[in-house]
Amino acid sequence: QSNQVSPPRYPSPWGTGEGEWADAYVKAREFVGQLTLEEKVNLTTGTGWQLESCVGQTGSVPRLGFKALCLQDSPVGVRYTDFVSLFPAGVNVAATWDRDLAYARGEAMGLENRDKGINVLLGPVAGPLGRSPEGGRNWEGFSPDPYLTGQLFATSIQGIQSTGVQACAKHFIAQEQEHFRQSPEARTYGFNITEPGSSNIDDQTLHELYVWPFADAVKAGVASVMCSYNLVNQSAACQNSYLLNQVLKNELGFQGYVMSDWQATLGGVSSVLAGLDMTMAGDIVFDDGISYFGPNLTIAVLNGTVPQWRLDDMAVRIVAAWYFVESDTKVTEEPNFQSWTFDTFGSTHFHVGPQWGTKIVNQHVDVRREHGALIRQIGAESTVLLKNNGVLPLTGKERLIGVFGEDAGSNPLGPNGCRNHNCDTGTLIVGWGSGQAQAPYQVSPDTALQNEVVSHYGSYESITNNSAATQIAALARRTNDVAGVCIVFANADSGEGFVNIENNFGDRKNLTLWQGADAMIGNVSKNCNNTVLVIHSVGAVEIEQYKQHPNITAILWAGLPGEQSGNAIADVLYGRVNPSAKLPFTIGKARSDYGTDVLYTPNQPVPQFNFQEGVFIDYRAFDHRNLTPTYEFGFGLSYTNFTYSDLTITKLAAAAYTPSTGSAGSAPTYGSVDTDPAAHLFPANLTRIPLFIYPYLNSTNLSAAYSAAGYGDNSFISQDALDGTSFAHAPSSGPSGGNEGLWDPLYKVCVSVVNTGAVAGAEVAQLYVSHGGQYDPVRVLRGFEKVFLGVGEKKQIEFVVRRRDVANWDTGAQDWVVRDGAKEIAVGASSRDLRLTGTLE
Ligand code: BGC
Ligand code: BGC
Repeated sequence: QSNQVSPPRYPSPWGTGEGEWADAYVKAREFVGQLTLEEKVNLTTGTGWQLESCVGQTGSVPRLGFKALCLQDSPVGVRYTDFVSLFPAGVNVAATWDRDLAYARGEAMGLENRDKGINVLLGPVAGPLGRSPEGGRNWEGFSPDPYLTGQLFATSIQGIQSTGVQACAKHFIAQEQEHFRQSPEARTYGFNITEPGSSNIDDQTLHELYVWPFADAVKAGVASVMCSYNLVNQSAACQNSYLLNQVLKNELGFQGYVMSDWQATLGGVSSVLAGLDMTMAGDIVFDDGISYFGPNLTIAVLNGTVPQWRLDDMAVRIVAAWYFVESDTKVTEEPNFQSWTFDTFGSTHFHVGPQWGTKIVNQHVDVRREHGALIRQIGAESTVLLKNNGVLPLTGKERLIGVFGEDAGSNPLGPNGCRNHNCDTGTLIVGWGSGQAQAPYQVSPDTALQNEVVSHYGSYESITNNSAATQIAALARRTNDVAGVCIVFANADSGEGFVNIENNFGDRKNLTLWQGADAMIGNVSKNCNNTVLVIHSVGAVEIEQYKQHPNITAILWAGLPGEQSGNAIADVLYGRVNPSAKLPFTIGKARSDYGTDVLYTPNQPVPQFNFQEGVFIDYRAFDHRNLTPTYEFGFGLSYTNFTYSDLTITKLAAAAYTPSTGSAGSAPTYGSVDTDPAAHLFPANLTRIPLFIYPYLNSTNLSAAYSAAGYGDNSFISQDALDGTSFAHAPSSGPSGGNEGLWDPLYKVCVSVVNTGAVAGAEVAQLYVSHGGQYDPVRVLRGFEKVFLGVGEKKQIEFVVRRRDVANWDTGAQDWVVRDGAKEIAVGASSRDLRLTGTLE
């Protein structure tokens, strides 16, 4: 695999504006037709790190009233500002298995972003997918299963974009670990690497696992995609023509634009020709004042190394995305906050200080509405009940509730005491890095549970210092002696690679609990024979010993629930919410069981991440090697029971699959370029902000203008890349998401589910398909439906199996194929609790 290289694919497909994008393209083409060269370049280039309000901000076109686009993290809300909500993380959304909740959260986050004046929300996340449980940013995304991720990725995008805010599907692609994502970052940790690491993936795995959810995103109309820091098959993701030109823009027919991750652009002309449309934050290295785009893109168009049609395509894609989500009418606010300070007054251009202007930088607009209620609901509905010997739900009549663990308590430094949530102190509600947001408050489990008990006039004592072994033992014993309930809280954290916490450089260094929790749990459970364990973690943790422990009578995984953490867990513990969540990943007995891991030490100057396991990650790996996990993918208990019956399969009439053929007409250009360099010099009257990236030239001598090293050496440019006469449609291609035949429904599968227990509740029924090939997983998730049932109630659930659900990627044919032979299906309550089976003929 490390000998694998990424094949060149040129030219970069131009947006055709088909289907739902048609109107937006008409408007965008008309707009771009009025622009000068500089104005087009301005749309594609960030103005530089910390120079404007948002984490990323493009140039503007003041002449025509087109404002700078404000791009802001994060996938859990709005980063770096106040009076915003902190939503549950992606991994919690995955645990709900609920498309409606994913949509509702997306919509709520979209509204908050919109009201802060943001055009682009930098999320949701489907890369990392979660190849290894140690991966630092897995929690920002959904699940290592591409189907589950794809469904919730798409509905999240639709929710966000319904508000007029663009979503950004990130990170494309295969950035499955934080170690070595960027060489300068790695060098600060003492790793002497020369390039970011290369994720080496075979083409079938790329399509069947990692690209899969991005196809759902494009189908859902995502406006933008962020390419990642890493290399893929030795070529940087942001200048990888196979990934951007071929897979994203040709096969998936993506009509929006590709932006780089921050400092992930590693070349100018090479990136543009490979399909990159926007560079962020604009400068090459934060605040170096130079850019691969900006004036260098102006030069590249003037000297012919980037054809005009390609720049026009970049501009049209960016403006079309803006119209597509109706930003023109829906996002009326200008940024009313500044990411770099909470002060009300400050520097207009933060990084260069007040001498370049001051203003009211933060208006402190409260954009939260009643989103706290939704956050609490998602928190409760994402809490997975893993073990229950009957202790739960609690009744409120317990004589003493003893609560233990640092993870139950508040962070003594305050809910936002660690910038970027760069610490694991107190209860864990979100991981660290750009994927988090400020918390407006943090309801700790200790607070919520105490309020609960006090409202019943019960007795409640808590110890949130994990080192207080004597006091912990004493309280556990007393609780035990009066037949009370002990509840222990523990966590495990991870985050983005720019921060190292306790020698976890983004990625976790192990799968054990943090804060010395194992000793504390051991102490409590030795002394208290009715111990409930609650885990807040970014993903799988090793808990086989607790599953087996007779005194641990219940286990819950609550993930990263956001601001309403304590209320959400109280709702579940006291049965106001009957748990219905299911694990969106496998909890293995030992990390070695996963068969995949992070590379912690460079194996070469350009680290090589060899995805030798192919498609066998998470449950696909456990099933393939017939290993028993502690808790399997899809598993989760309820306070009631469900039985399944009446499986029926209906074969639907569908047209045969037709691979796409033919080619696109020639690349359009809009307006003309004045080829005289003198026409592109800095305007005489412009006050230049230092380090700010402008599109203008500082000399009419193009080679001297920005003293770009190697100017004039065009040998790396493939002539195909400049050719705008046509591009051939890939067989699997089609507008917005790929060949439409891939979405044809082929089968309808129905089952009935009955609630046979004593309380109402919801069940997530899961459909698995066995493709049947020698190199296929035993089974893969291809449908799920969450259904709410009253006591004794029975409902029919319908799954639709589409062509892509039973297809494999054929590397030779470069297309999806449905292999001959019947395919077995199974419907059940988890990936191993399969209740009914059938055959797709
Ligand atoms: C992260 C992105 C984030 C960007 C802007 C990068 O380091 O990888 O996910 O959107 O920074 O903060
Ligand atoms: C910023 C993040 C960004 C990262 C990129 C950090 O300093 O806070 O927003 O994602 O740098 O490496």
